[in-house]
Amino acid sequence: NTFADLGIEEPLLSYLSTKMNIEKPTSIQKLVIPHLSSVANDNDLFIHAQTGSGKTLAYLLPILSSVLNMKTHVDRKSGSFALIIAPTRELASQIYDVATNLTNCCRYLVPCLLIGGERKKSEKARLRKGCNLIIGTPGRILDHLQNTQVIKEQMASSLRYVILDEGDKLMELGFEETLRNIFEIIHNIPIDTDTFPKLPSRIMHVLCSATLKENV
Ligand code: AMP
Repeated sequence: NTFADLGIEEPLLSYLSTKMNIEKPTSIQKLVIPHLSSVANDNDLFIHAQTGSGKTLAYLLPILSSVLNMKTHVDRKSGSFALIIAPTRELASQIYDVATNLTNCCRYLVPCLLIGGERKKSEKARLRKGCNLIIGTPGRILDHLQNTQVIKEQMASSLRYVILDEGDKLMELGFEETLRNIFEIIHNIPIDTDTFPKLPSRIMHVLCSATLKENV
Protein backbone atom coordinates (compact mmCIF):
# COMPACT_ATOMS: atom_id res chain seq x y z
CA ASN A 1 0.00 0.00 0.00
CA THR A 2 2.99 2.29 -0.36
CA PHE A 3 4.90 3.44 -3.43
CA ALA A 4 7.82 1.30 -2.23
CA ASP A 5 5.53 -1.77 -2.18
CA LEU A 6 4.63 -0.95 -5.76
CA GLY A 7 8.31 -1.09 -6.68
CA ILE A 8 8.96 2.62 -7.17
CA GLU A 9 12.71 3.21 -6.97
CA GLU A 10 14.79 5.70 -5.06
CA PRO A 11 15.42 8.59 -5.54
CA LEU A 12 11.85 8.98 -6.82
CA LEU A 13 10.47 7.60 -3.59
CA SER A 14 12.07 10.16 -1.28
CA TYR A 15 11.37 12.92 -3.73
CA LEU A 16 7.64 12.09 -3.76
CA SER A 17 7.27 12.24 -0.02
CA THR A 18 9.68 15.05 0.88
CA LYS A 19 9.24 17.41 -2.05
CA MET A 20 5.77 16.64 -3.39
CA ASN A 21 4.15 15.62 -0.13
CA ILE A 22 2.71 12.53 -1.76
CA GLU A 23 2.72 9.56 0.58
CA LYS A 24 0.09 7.04 -0.44
CA PRO A 25 -0.80 5.79 -3.90
CA THR A 26 -4.35 6.45 -5.15
CA SER A 27 -6.43 3.46 -6.24
CA ILE A 28 -5.67 4.04 -9.92
CA GLN A 29 -1.95 4.20 -9.11
CA LYS A 30 -2.16 0.89 -7.23
CA LEU A 31 -3.63 -0.71 -10.34
CA VAL A 32 -1.50 0.92 -13.01
CA ILE A 33 2.00 1.03 -11.48
CA PRO A 34 2.54 -2.76 -11.22
CA HIS A 35 1.26 -3.28 -14.73
CA LEU A 36 3.52 -0.65 -16.30
CA SER A 37 6.52 -1.74 -14.20
CA SER A 38 6.36 -5.31 -15.38
CA VAL A 39 8.46 -6.20 -18.38
CA ALA A 40 6.99 -9.70 -18.35
CA ASN A 41 3.49 -8.36 -18.88
CA ASP A 42 3.85 -5.99 -21.79
CA ASN A 43 0.19 -5.88 -22.75
CA ASP A 44 -1.27 -2.57 -23.72
CA LEU A 45 -3.27 -0.80 -21.06
CA PHE A 46 -6.52 1.11 -20.90
CA ILE A 47 -6.82 3.43 -17.92
CA HIS A 48 -10.42 4.36 -17.27
CA ALA A 49 -9.97 7.37 -15.01
CA GLN A 50 -11.07 10.95 -14.54
CA THR A 51 -8.80 13.94 -14.16
CA GLY A 52 -8.03 14.22 -10.47
CA SER A 53 -7.59 10.48 -9.95
CA GLY A 54 -3.81 10.72 -10.04
CA LYS A 55 -3.47 9.15 -13.51
CA THR A 56 -0.53 11.35 -14.53
CA LEU A 57 1.70 9.99 -11.78
CA ALA A 58 0.17 6.54 -12.34
CA TYR A 59 1.95 6.34 -15.70
CA LEU A 60 4.91 8.71 -15.14
CA LEU A 61 6.16 7.03 -11.96
CA PRO A 62 6.50 3.45 -13.29
CA ILE A 63 8.09 4.67 -16.53
CA LEU A 64 10.72 6.76 -14.72
CA SER A 65 11.19 4.04 -12.13
CA SER A 66 11.77 1.40 -14.82
CA VAL A 67 14.38 3.64 -16.43
CA LEU A 68 16.14 4.14 -13.07
CA ASN A 69 15.81 0.44 -12.32
CA MET A 70 17.93 -0.47 -15.34
CA LYS A 71 20.99 0.56 -13.33
CA THR A 72 22.78 1.39 -16.53
CA HIS A 73 24.08 4.83 -17.27
CA VAL A 74 21.25 6.97 -18.64
CA ASP A 75 21.25 10.64 -19.48
CA ARG A 76 19.43 12.97 -21.86
CA LYS A 77 21.43 11.53 -24.74
CA SER A 78 20.22 7.97 -24.10
CA GLY A 79 17.07 8.55 -26.12
CA SER A 80 13.37 9.05 -25.52
CA PHE A 81 11.69 6.23 -23.61
CA ALA A 82 8.15 7.59 -23.68
CA LEU A 83 5.92 9.64 -25.94
CA ILE A 84 2.95 11.22 -24.17
CA ILE A 85 0.24 12.70 -26.36
CA ALA A 86 -2.37 15.06 -24.91
CA PRO A 87 -5.30 16.78 -26.65
CA THR A 88 -4.56 20.38 -25.62
CA ARG A 89 -1.52 22.57 -25.00
CA GLU A 90 -2.77 23.15 -21.47
CA LEU A 91 -2.91 19.47 -20.61
CA ALA A 92 0.44 18.78 -22.31
CA SER A 93 1.99 21.64 -20.32
CA GLN A 94 0.52 20.29 -17.07
CA ILE A 95 1.95 16.83 -17.74
CA TYR A 96 5.29 18.43 -18.64
CA ASP A 97 5.27 20.36 -15.35
CA VAL A 98 4.69 17.15 -13.38
CA ALA A 99 7.45 15.40 -15.36
CA THR A 100 9.83 18.34 -14.80
CA ASN A 101 9.05 18.26 -11.11
CA LEU A 102 9.62 14.50 -10.85
CA THR A 103 12.87 14.56 -12.81
CA ASN A 104 14.26 17.02 -10.27
CA CYS A 105 14.99 13.85 -8.32
CA CYS A 106 17.39 12.71 -11.02
CA ARG A 107 18.41 15.67 -13.12
CA TYR A 108 20.15 13.63 -15.79
CA LEU A 109 16.67 12.69 -17.04
CA VAL A 110 15.08 15.40 -19.16
CA PRO A 111 11.52 15.89 -20.45
CA CYS A 112 10.68 17.90 -23.54
CA LEU A 113 7.46 19.70 -24.52
CA LEU A 114 6.23 19.85 -28.12
CA ILE A 115 3.14 22.02 -28.54
CA GLY A 116 1.81 24.40 -31.18
CA GLY A 117 2.88 28.02 -31.08
CA GLU A 118 6.01 29.92 -31.92
CA ARG A 119 8.64 27.66 -30.47
CA LYS A 120 9.27 25.10 -33.18
CA LYS A 121 12.91 26.13 -33.53
CA SER A 122 13.58 25.91 -29.82
CA GLU A 123 11.76 22.58 -29.68
CA LYS A 124 14.06 21.32 -32.40
CA ALA A 125 17.11 22.56 -30.52
CA ARG A 126 15.89 20.85 -27.37
CA LEU A 127 15.33 17.57 -29.25
CA ARG A 128 18.82 17.85 -30.63
CA LYS A 129 20.28 18.20 -27.12
CA GLY A 130 18.39 15.04 -26.16
CA CYS A 131 15.41 14.28 -23.94
CA ASN A 132 13.98 11.17 -22.30
CA LEU A 133 10.26 11.92 -22.23
CA ILE A 134 8.50 13.63 -25.11
CA ILE A 135 5.20 15.27 -24.18
CA GLY A 136 3.05 17.15 -26.65
CA THR A 137 -0.04 17.73 -28.74
CA PRO A 138 -0.84 15.54 -31.79
CA GLY A 139 -0.38 18.12 -34.57
CA ARG A 140 2.99 19.34 -33.36
CA ILE A 141 4.28 15.84 -32.66
CA LEU A 142 3.32 14.72 -36.17
CA ASP A 143 4.91 17.87 -37.62
CA HIS A 144 8.23 17.01 -35.95
CA LEU A 145 7.96 13.34 -36.92
CA GLN A 146 7.46 14.34 -40.55
CA ASN A 147 9.94 17.21 -40.71
CA THR A 148 12.54 16.83 -37.98
CA GLN A 149 14.82 13.85 -38.44
CA VAL A 150 16.24 14.32 -34.95
CA ILE A 151 13.00 13.25 -33.19
CA LYS A 152 13.11 9.87 -34.91
CA GLU A 153 16.79 9.51 -33.99
CA GLN A 154 15.81 10.28 -30.39
CA MET A 155 13.22 7.50 -30.38
CA ALA A 156 15.14 4.89 -32.34
CA SER A 157 16.04 1.96 -30.09
CA SER A 158 14.72 3.59 -26.89
CA LEU A 159 10.99 4.25 -27.36
CA ARG A 160 8.96 1.82 -25.22
CA TYR A 161 5.85 3.64 -23.99
CA VAL A 162 3.26 5.62 -25.90
CA ILE A 163 0.58 7.25 -23.79
CA LEU A 164 -2.60 8.79 -25.15
CA ASP A 165 -3.96 10.99 -22.39
CA GLU A 166 -7.63 12.02 -22.39
CA GLY A 167 -8.45 9.73 -25.30
CA ASP A 168 -12.06 10.90 -25.36
CA LYS A 169 -10.98 14.51 -25.82
CA LEU A 170 -8.47 13.50 -28.51
CA MET A 171 -11.37 11.99 -30.47
CA GLU A 172 -13.72 14.89 -29.71
CA LEU A 173 -11.18 17.34 -31.12
CA GLY A 174 -10.81 15.33 -34.33
CA PHE A 175 -7.28 13.97 -33.90
CA GLU A 176 -8.03 10.44 -35.10
CA GLU A 177 -6.31 10.83 -38.47
CA THR A 178 -3.32 12.66 -36.95
CA LEU A 179 -2.90 9.88 -34.39
CA ARG A 180 -3.05 7.21 -37.11
CA ASN A 181 -0.28 9.06 -38.95
CA ILE A 182 1.80 9.33 -35.77
CA PHE A 183 1.44 5.60 -35.09
CA GLU A 184 2.31 4.71 -38.65
CA ILE A 185 5.62 6.55 -38.29
CA ILE A 186 6.59 5.41 -34.80
CA HIS A 187 5.72 1.78 -35.48
CA ASN A 188 8.27 1.87 -38.27
CA ILE A 189 11.06 3.12 -36.00
CA PRO A 190 13.26 0.14 -35.11
CA ILE A 191 13.54 -0.90 -31.46
CA ASP A 192 16.86 -2.26 -30.28
CA THR A 193 16.04 -4.60 -27.40
CA ASP A 194 19.74 -5.26 -26.71
CA THR A 195 20.42 -1.67 -25.67
CA PHE A 196 17.78 -1.62 -22.92
CA PRO A 197 17.08 -5.28 -22.07
CA LYS A 198 15.26 -4.42 -18.85
CA LEU A 199 12.62 -2.36 -20.62
CA PRO A 200 9.64 -3.89 -22.47
CA SER A 201 10.71 -5.52 -25.73
CA ARG A 202 8.08 -3.64 -27.68
CA ILE A 203 6.15 -0.39 -27.45
CA MET A 204 3.50 -0.51 -24.71
CA HIS A 205 0.46 1.57 -25.58
CA VAL A 206 -1.44 3.23 -22.77
CA LEU A 207 -4.80 4.87 -23.34
CA CYS A 208 -6.34 7.07 -20.66
CA SER A 209 -9.94 8.14 -20.97
CA ALA A 210 -12.71 9.27 -18.66
CA THR A 211 -15.35 7.81 -20.97
CA LEU A 212 -15.38 4.75 -23.19
CA LYS A 213 -17.34 5.64 -26.30
CA GLU A 214 -16.93 3.50 -29.37
CA ASN A 215 -14.60 5.91 -31.20
CA VAL A 216 -12.25 5.94 -28.18
P1 AMP B 1 -4.24 13.90 -12.10
O1 AMP B 1 -5.42 13.00 -12.01
O2 AMP B 1 -3.04 13.21 -12.65
O3 AMP B 1 -4.57 15.16 -12.86
O4 AMP B 1 -3.80 14.34 -10.63
C1 AMP B 1 -4.63 15.17 -9.83
C2 AMP B 1 -3.89 15.73 -8.60
O5 AMP B 1 -3.68 14.71 -7.63
C3 AMP B 1 -2.54 16.33 -8.86
O6 AMP B 1 -2.49 17.60 -8.26
C4 AMP B 1 -1.55 15.39 -8.20
O7 AMP B 1 -0.42 16.07 -7.72
C5 AMP B 1 -2.36 14.80 -7.10
N1 AMP B 1 -1.92 13.45 -6.73
C6 AMP B 1 -1.57 12.46 -7.58
N2 AMP B 1 -1.27 11.33 -6.93
C7 AMP B 1 -1.44 11.60 -5.61
C8 AMP B 1 -1.28 10.82 -4.41
N3 AMP B 1 -0.90 9.55 -4.45
N4 AMP B 1 -1.53 11.42 -3.22
C9 AMP B 1 -1.94 12.71 -3.19
N5 AMP B 1 -2.10 13.51 -4.27
C10 AMP B 1 -1.86 12.96 -5.48
